Amino acid sequence: MSQQQEQNDIHWLTGQFCDRQKELNYRYFIAPNVRSDARLALILASAIFAMFGITDYNLLGLTQEYYLLLTMRITVVSSCLAIAFIIGKTGGYAKKAWLHALPLWIFAIGIILIVPLRPESIGTQVTAIVVALIAFYLLIPNLLTVAALASAFVSITFLAAAMMYAGVSAEGAVRIGLLIAMANIVGYSSLRRLERLQRKQYALLNEERDQNRNLLQEIKHRKSLEAQLRMVAERDTLTGVDSRSHFMKRAEALLQRSRLEGASFCLFMIDVDHFKKINDTWGHTRGDVILTKIAAVCQQSLRPTDIIGRFGGEEFVVGLPHTSPADATVVAERLKHNVEALSLDNEFKDLQLSVTIGVAVATPEDDLDALITRADNRLYEGKRDGRNRVVSSS
Ligand code: GH3
Ligand code: MG
Ligand code: MG
Repeated sequence: MSQQQEQNDIHWLTGQFCDRQKELNYRYFIAPNVRSDARLALILASAIFAMFGITDYNLLGLTQEYYLLLTMRITVVSSCLAIAFIIGKTGGYAKKAWLHALPLWIFAIGIILIVPLRPESIGTQVTAIVVALIAFYLLIPNLLTVAALASAFVSITFLAAAMMYAGVSAEGAVRIGLLIAMANIVGYSSLRRLERLQRKQYALLNEERDQNRNLLQEIKHRKSLEAQLRMVAERDTLTGVDSRSHFMKRAEALLQRSRLEGASFCLFMIDVDHFKKINDTWGHTRGDVILTKIAAVCQQSLRPTDIIGRFGGEEFVVGLPHTSPADATVVAERLKHNVEALSLDNEFKDLQLSVTIGVAVATPEDDLDALITRADNRLYEGKRDGRNRVVSSS
């Protein structure tokens, strides 16, 4: 049996959750409803109990028994109304179930006291007892165990009082006993069914909430995975600039927009000079560090609207929207200068870093590939002519 199932187990006799904590949680959950229901039920029950004062007067007149009954009714009604008031204010159902049980016992004692004071109306009282028992179980909200105990108390003491004070014979007592037992069985079974159903409903609601919470967590997890995946796809893992494919996508969009707006668009191909030698001298790992620094310096030399990607190996590509050819050359020179001026650790003191940059200016007929090819050709020229230079189309 799973742990969840064990927690949701409902006791066959009491109709309560077997798990104590779960039962308490359930009672906290229903407490606000029980409080208002209990208050209303107690006010109604008190009103009905008070109304029977009229029957007392009809049967007894202004006798001593009548005054005793009247006092008893006033005591029962006022204490139940006081409890109704307290329950409405502070009657927590989880910790103070006894407060909800108290009126049942007060009514029980009140009902029993009627027998010795009005013994001749025992027939009517049997009917009243049956109604009261059903009310204990079904109308006054309370736990099945509490309602069953109070009902058993009323049933047994009523029978005893009927025999002692109203002269009911043993045979009569059996008949009344059967009737009362039937009322108890009907009340008990109905409340047990109700208690079980309500708790099952509560357990289902809880399960659904748990599932929703898990689902939300799963969604969050997936979103974070998605963001990570996007990051991996869009960023070059070593240098942090755009990956080649992401750069191509962005550059394509910028180029098209520039064409629509009639603005100029320039592109750089940047290649680190003699990088193979750097790797050979300091090792591939240090080469990586230097490459990362170069990428960072390139990025810092650009405007926020420019884009930069790693084209492959030690080659970078830059897209500059809204940039005239003259400005592009200025930017490229600045970038080249910044790489040269890059400060490196002492161990690289003999190293003079440099880059060669090919610059291409987009014509209205250019697509991105054509533009890249042109910038690449300029780069090649720069390499051929001695490296560490900027070569523009114009
Ligand atoms: P030049 O461009 O000036 O002609 O000479 P080069 O030595 O830079 O040219 P080449 O393209 O022959 O060599 C590029 C080198 O860059 C080769 C390769 O080992 C190195 N390289 C490519 N990608 C990486 C990388 O991610 N990390 C490191 N450390 N080295 C890389
Ligand atoms: Mg190269
Ligand atoms: Mg190179």
